[in-house]
Amino acid sequence: MSWLDALLRWFDEHGRKYFWRFSNDWYVTIVAEIMLVRTRATTVERVLKDFLARFPTPRDLCNASDEDVVPFFKRLGLIKRSSWVRKIVCTILEKYGGSIPCSEEDLEELPGIGRYLKNVILTKLCSIPRPFVDTNVLRVLSRYLGRDLDVDSAERWLSENVPPNLLYKTNLALMDVGAVLCLPREPRCSSCPLRDWCRYAEQCS
Ligand code: SF4
Repeated sequence: MSWLDALLRWFDEHGRKYFWRFSNDWYVTIVAEIMLVRTRATTVERVLKDFLARFPTPRDLCNASDEDVVPFFKRLGLIKRSSWVRKIVCTILEKYGGSIPCSEEDLEELPGIGRYLKNVILTKLCSIPRPFVDTNVLRVLSRYLGRDLDVDSAERWLSENVPPNLLYKTNLALMDVGAVLCLPREPRCSSCPLRDWCRYAEQCS
């Protein structure tokens, strides 16, 4: 079995099944990803469900005021993101007729869209697979490869070592390994699907 087979098999059994991961709706994807920046996914799950019940469509959000939206982001401790999410959603409605633009240039022009979110959108909503590297993915890959990676080198390594059709799932699996096993202080290597290939594993207790 390869490292990738082991990782994806583990993910099938133990991966976190957050509902937004399996949604191809651009509105759900964008709101979820903005809520997830530096926030625990379990917290986001509760707030996002309430948010989507209050603003079920992009138009509902666009017609609301920042004051309507703030309480949801206040629960996450991220008040400034309430106007950010409205700006992006309203721009997609008004400038692109409610369809997500799939060119890199157009995505980069959306307010506040960084590289990570752009790559998530391209992969998930545009069928243009791209690696998206957060701190969890960076830590897992750095330990796995036995060298400190930056986002550029991690993205490059993923592009060269994962088939495009498996990139999204692999990315999610690495995030989950980072969130539940490859913890910053005490990685749980004995339970990790990557332990047989990981350069760092022999240092684990
Ligand atoms: S084997 Fe240990 S150090 Fe390597 S990726 Fe898994 S949890 Fe992290």
